[in-house]
Amino acid sequence: MSCRTRADIARRAWVACPACDAARHCATCADHRTCGEHWRHLIAGNGPVLHLQCPGCTHTWSLDTRPGLPHRGGGTSCP
Ligand SMILES: [Zn+2]
Ligand SMILES: [Zn+2]
Repeated sequence: MSCRTRADIARRAWVACPACDAARHCATCADHRTCGEHWRHLIAGNGPVLHLQCPGCTHTWSLDTRPGLPHRGGGTSCP
């Protein structure tokens, strides 16, 4: 467990917004790096569940980061 997370970084999360797709064509985001333009506000974190808000469309949602869920690895079954 690391307690050295900086506050400015702790309030950001680089996850895809389910409401808009602003980062779709961004190479930085596609590479899963910390993009300076496309990030979400990390409002709160209750254990494995994160509460996020998209600065672009103001959509708020919660994300369950527990392992073993189908979205693990971000695999899309495109033929
Ligand atoms: Zn959005
Ligand atoms: Zn980006």
